[in-house]
Amino acid sequence: MIIATDLEGVLIPEIWDAIASEYGIDELHLTTRDIPDFEELMEHRVNVLNREDLRLQDLQKVAQDVMAFPGSTEFLNWGRRRGQIMIISDTFHELSDPLVWEFGGYNLFANQFSTDSKGRITGYKLRIRGMKWRALEKLRDIGFFIVAIGDSHNDLSMLEEAHHPIFFNPPQELREKCSDFPVAETYDELRESILSVPAESIENP
Ligand SMILES: [Mg+2]
Repeated sequence: MIIATDLEGVLIPEIWDAIASEYGIDELHLTTRDIPDFEELMEHRVNVLNREDLRLQDLQKVAQDVMAFPGSTEFLNWGRRRGQIMIISDTFHELSDPLVWEFGGYNLFANQFSTDSKGRITGYKLRIRGMKWRALEKLRDIGFFIVAIGDSHNDLSMLEEAHHPIFFNPPQELREKCSDFPVAETYDELRESILSVPAESIENP
């Protein structure tokens, strides 16, 4: 079994929220929950960062103080005994690698920034945007049972690709739009949802 999970909103708070609060820039509070088109959202963020002269090191300084949600490390530890954990996120490696290391070493599949010699953000290399499902497609094809966990619009393609999708505290609008997906509010409920999958389905997806 593969347990593919989103990062922000599932295991840790939104890093951009922390950056917005730290530097007092309301526009950086917007996430894919507000602007579902990730590229549009990123263009907006990069413009704001450059206008405010915030550089990669300023973002990393905030990211390193972001605290994972209580219980997330234990949930991942529990999950890794049942399957392979993949963290698939629209975050950036430069911000999230240290956080993921603190969980105890999991594979993170995310995007990367491009910067100039002074650390100004000049662009980004998107690997995941709109493509979360493709990371899972081939694993599904070769016979793995896929559990996917996400909280927002950008997780929908991944959840749709999974045998067992789970929404983790999604916004109301998405609960209504995707009323077929099981919803978990806590890590205990996530565990229960994963345990509810019959062993037979996992063995013969
Ligand atoms: Mg998320």
